[in-house]
Amino acid sequence: MPSARKRGECHTCGAKCCRYVVVGIGKPHTRIDREEIRWFLAHENVKVFIDHDDGSWNVQFTTRCRHLDRRNRCRIYGNRYQVCAEHDPADCEDTGLDVNATVFTAPEEYDAWRVAQALTRRRKRQLVRKRK
Ligand code: SF4
Ligand code: SF4
Repeated sequence: MPSARKRGECHTCGAKCCRYVVVGIGKPHTRIDREEIRWFLAHENVKVFIDHDDGSWNVQFTTRCRHLDRRNRCRIYGNRYQVCAEHDPADCEDTGLDVNATVFTAPEEYDAWRVAQALTRRRKRQLVRKRK
C-alpha cells in the first residue's frame, strides 16, 4: 500500500529510503540463477524479494548512504543522485517493503518457498487431469 506521507513529512521517518540499495535481478530460470539467489541470502543484511506490483525480482542490501548526516538529513540534497530525486515520498517504503512482495531473508526461506511452489504446481496438474 502506498504511504500516506506527503512531501515535507520526510523528517519523521528516520530516512528509511536512504538506508538500502535495491538492484533488479532476473526471474530465476536455471540452477545457477537459483544458486545465486541462495548465495545472496547467505549474506547478512541482504534480502531478495519479488515485487508483486510488477513481478520483478530484486536484491536489497541494507546499507546506510554515506551522505546521510547524524540528523538523518541528506548532506548533498541540492545535488543528490537522480534515483533519489525521482523517489516519490507519496509512494514510499515507509509503510514497509513487504506489503506487496514475497521477501526472502535466508536461503532456507527461499528453499521452502520453492517446495511450496512445486507442490502447488503439482496439485494444479492433478486437478487438470481429473477434469479431463
Ligand atoms: S520518502 Fe519515505 S522513506 Fe524516504 S525519507 Fe521520506 S517518508 Fe522516509
Ligand atoms: S544521496 Fe541523499 S537522498 Fe540520496 S540516498 Fe544518500 S542521503 Fe538519501
